[in-house]
Amino acid sequence: MRQTRTFAVIGLGRFGAAVAETLVEQGLEVLAIDNDGDKVDQMSDRVTHAVQCDATDERALRAVGIENVDVAVVSIGEGIEASILIVMTLMDMGVPEVIAKAVTVKQGKVLEKLGVARVVYPEREAAVRLAHGLAIPNQLEHLELAKGFALVEMPLPSRYGGMLLRETMIRSRYDVNVVAIKRAPDPITGQQPGGQEEVNFQPAPDDLLRDGDVLLVIGHETDLKRLQEEA
Ligand code: ATP
Repeated sequence: MRQTRTFAVIGLGRFGAAVAETLVEQGLEVLAIDNDGDKVDQMSDRVTHAVQCDATDERALRAVGIENVDVAVVSIGEGIEASILIVMTLMDMGVPEVIAKAVTVKQGKVLEKLGVARVVYPEREAAVRLAHGLAIPNQLEHLELAKGFALVEMPLPSRYGGMLLRETMIRSRYDVNVVAIKRAPDPITGQQPGGQEEVNFQPAPDDLLRDGDVLLVIGHETDLKRLQEEA
């Protein structure tokens, strides 16, 4: 059986604290570190271990056994020097996956050069997601897969209610792929139609679409927008 990965979160600001809490909610083991005793106290009953230490101090990091974690998230926005030092120390110690938060693109570039597995820009990423969400009306979720391409969750456009998937010609007309259909319950019985799964991950050409269904669609942003907007 594959062993569950263990995590450390260094820097318990809003972002770091939310990462640590969410990992714990998923049943994962988290070592939370901050040099501010109040932050550590606030987290102590929510994570597996919460430790007050200066993470730029290699000996302190060793003392808490950081080299045993599989993934470390360094979430220190201000003070890029501290981030750099901590990231370098973690990598020298052989922590297999280091993820670092950056506030500016310059910071991100420096962290990438150090060889971190991933740089996250929480504010920028939230802003981009919001803007994408606003640009394509009605969509419920938007996940950018590559520049210009996305997986979106959208209510079935009303013009397709009652049609078979193949009759809609969505794929050929819009160059997008319907990868799943979330089923609306039968309007009369309130049950899922024909014993089907609530989420149909293998949509077939003869699947019937009904008002209230939700589609998961992959494609180029402009094509997704066309699909959603055309009457
Ligand atoms: P957010 O926006 O997520 O709230 P932030 O970018 O404002 O966070 P900072 O205030 O820069 O975050 O730092 C995040 C946390 O990192 C703080 O709680 C701070 O005490 C902690 N921190 C800063 N330097 C160190 C360090 N050398 N060792 C351990 N913790 C540190």
